[in-house]
Amino acid sequence: MSIKVPFLDLPAQHIAIEEEIQIAMREIIRSSSFCSGPAVADFEKQFAAFVGSQHCIAVNSGTSALHLALLASGIGDGDEVIAPAMTFVATIAAIQYVGASPKLVDVEPNSFCLSPEKLEEAITDKTRAIIPVHLYGLPAKMSEIQAIAKKKNILVIEDAAQAHGASIGGINCGNLGNLAAFSFYPGKNLGACGEGGAVTTNNENYANLIRSMRDWGQEGKGNHVHPGFNYRMDGLQGAALGVKLKYLDKWTKERQRVAARYRELVAEERIVLQEERSATEHAYHVFAILTKRRDEILKAMQANGISCGIHYPNPIHLQPIFSSIGYSHGEFPMAERIANEELSLPIYPEITEEQIVHVINNLKEVLYD
Ligand SMILES: *Cc1c(COP(=O)(O)O)cnc(C)c1O
Repeated sequence: MSIKVPFLDLPAQHIAIEEEIQIAMREIIRSSSFCSGPAVADFEKQFAAFVGSQHCIAVNSGTSALHLALLASGIGDGDEVIAPAMTFVATIAAIQYVGASPKLVDVEPNSFCLSPEKLEEAITDKTRAIIPVHLYGLPAKMSEIQAIAKKKNILVIEDAAQAHGASIGGINCGNLGNLAAFSFYPGKNLGACGEGGAVTTNNENYANLIRSMRDWGQEGKGNHVHPGFNYRMDGLQGAALGVKLKYLDKWTKERQRVAARYRELVAEERIVLQEERSATEHAYHVFAILTKRRDEILKAMQANGISCGIHYPNPIHLQPIFSSIGYSHGEFPMAERIANEELSLPIYPEITEEQIVHVINNLKEVLYD
């Protein structure tokens, strides 16, 4: 008997709420508010309330959200921005979009997120901002990072692209820094039916500037005041996200339930997991394990109908495109270890107990071989 386990099951998510999305999308087609419009404005209100921040500005991707957050902060040529050496490339690309230089810091062995201990030594007179990434959905150590940022008068821009609904002490990711960027790429915990992103902030000046820049820098129709971009969110995406947001808490709880099962079943000293921290909610965008036999396990799983992932096979400093930043092999050992040993197990709200057990049985078959 062969059980298939996809890495994620978007059709299952959409079939369950297809009718609701169709109704919301039909409204957009009838009103033809395809770019921004009332559905996007409604979603912004709802998402701001969800995050607990005063402002949400919806844009067309998480990358655009990072770009505008940096621009609104006035960061540009000659400035340095600190980011972890293990993240998706977009975090670093956005820093380069504004002309600033990325400064990398290694991640922690226990959280896999930016190390507060190594942060301070990376700060220079040119450092203007830190971008902690809530990697895989686990919040970075924000109170330690914030304390250093405050002392040095540096902004904190959260990369919350993987952390919808994650929180520390009841405060959601997206509301733990000066600004935050979210992605609604379909595979993210809250995904559009296409591309999407948002910035959240409690600073009204930043919010107004970002609102203007995403729509060609206008202040009043035809009056172009700020650097302009076509970064508006589609009406259809606003409609879909408005429907899906209502399910996000339920989906996050399901992800946490799956993660708890994996933790129980995988308990094994040769496998390293992200730490569990008190008063911290992990959104489990990715369920990551570290194992020396990653490549073998990945292959064996694939052969048995189980799709796993690697997030990410190259640390930032060893990506060819970022070689000019000037780091070399061995400089960020934990980021390199994750690149070599990380395996992402299938996790999504709709995964069944049978599939979970199948994943773990196959994993152990290789491990105990
Ligand atoms: C997905 C992601 C992004 C980029 O978001 P897009 O919507 O794909 O542009 C940025 N940072 C991280 C950590 C991500 O996972």
